[in-house]
Amino acid sequence: MPATVMDGIAVARHTRAQLEGRVEALAARGAPCGLAVIIVGDNPASRVYVRNKVKACGEIGIHSEMIELPADVARETLLARIGALNADPGIHGILVQLPLPRHLDVKEVLETISLLKDVDGFHVESMGALMAGLPGFWPCTPYGVMMILDYYKVPLSGANAVVIGRSNIVGKPQALMLLARDATVTICTSMTRDLARHTRAADILVVATGRARMVTGDMIKPGAVVVDVGINRLPDGKLCGDVDYDSAAAVAGLITPVPGGVGPMTITMLLANTVHAAESAADIHA
Ligand code: NDP
Repeated sequence: MPATVMDGIAVARHTRAQLEGRVEALAARGAPCGLAVIIVGDNPASRVYVRNKVKACGEIGIHSEMIELPADVARETLLARIGALNADPGIHGILVQLPLPRHLDVKEVLETISLLKDVDGFHVESMGALMAGLPGFWPCTPYGVMMILDYYKVPLSGANAVVIGRSNIVGKPQALMLLARDATVTICTSMTRDLARHTRAADILVVATGRARMVTGDMIKPGAVVVDVGINRLPDGKLCGDVDYDSAAAVAGLITPVPGGVGPMTITMLLANTVHAAESAADIHA
C-alpha cells in the first residue's frame, strides 16, 4: 500500500488559523505583534525568502518591517540597528536573513539579537536552552517537523528515530527535539559507515542532507515515517527533496512530499515563535 502523504500545507493552514486568533487577541489588548526582518545585500534567493516571510506575517495580522541594508554595510551600523530593534516595544521578533556578506561575523550578529526576540532560535543560548530542556525559541524547520509528526499523531516515545544531517539549524536541533520526546535517536552524517543499516532500523527517518534523492526506498523500513527536509533544484528547474519520493512512498507508512511538506512549516513556526514572543512580552502565557 502506498504511503499516506503528510501534507505540510494542511498542517501549516491549521497552525496559522490558530495563530491568527492569538494575534487578534494581542491586538485587542493593545499589544499588536511585530516582526522585523533584516536583509543585507541583494541575494535574489534571500529576497524571495524575506518577501515570503513578510507576506505570511500580513496574512495573519502580524505587523512586519523589512529592513534593507547595503551589502557593504558597516558592522557597527548593522549591530546598532539590531540594538534599536531589541529596544523597540513594538517588535517582538528579529530575524537576520542568512547568508551575510563575508565581512560580517554571523555569530556576532546573531548573538546581538535579544534572546527574548530570537525567533529563528539561532542564538547560541537558544540552542543551549534546547539542549538543556529549558524554555527558549526552537529553530523553525525542525520545530515544524515536530508539528507535522504531532498532527499525524506519530508515536514518538520509544520510537527509533534516525536523523541524517547534523547542521545547527536542522539536524542537531531535530535530534534534540526527538530525544526530548523520548525517541531513541541516531544522528547520521557524511562520515557514517553503512548508512542504510541505520536508516533501515528507523521507525522515523528525518533526512536533511542537501543531496537530491539520496535516500531510496530500499533504505527504508516498511511502514516507517519519512520526513524529507531537503529542498534541491534540479537542472530542469523542478524542486525535489533529499528522498527519492516514488521509491520511498512505495515502502513508507507516512511520508512528506517536496514541495508541500516541511517547507510551509518553516515560515509557520517563525510566525508561531513571533506570536509566542509577543505573548510573553504582554505577560500572556499560552
Ligand atoms: P547542511 O549542508 O548544513 O548539512 C547537511 C548535513 O548532511 C551535514 O551534516 C552532512 O554531513 C550531511 N550529509 C551530507 N551528505 C551526506 C551523505 N551522503 N550521507 C549522510 N549525511 C550526509 O544542510 P542543512 O542542514 O542546512 O540543510 C539540509 C537540507 O535541508 C538542504 O536540502 C536544505 O535546502 C534543506 N532545508 C530546508 C528547509 C525548509 O524550510 N524545508 C530549511 C533549511 C534547510 P557532514 O556534517 O558530515 O558534512
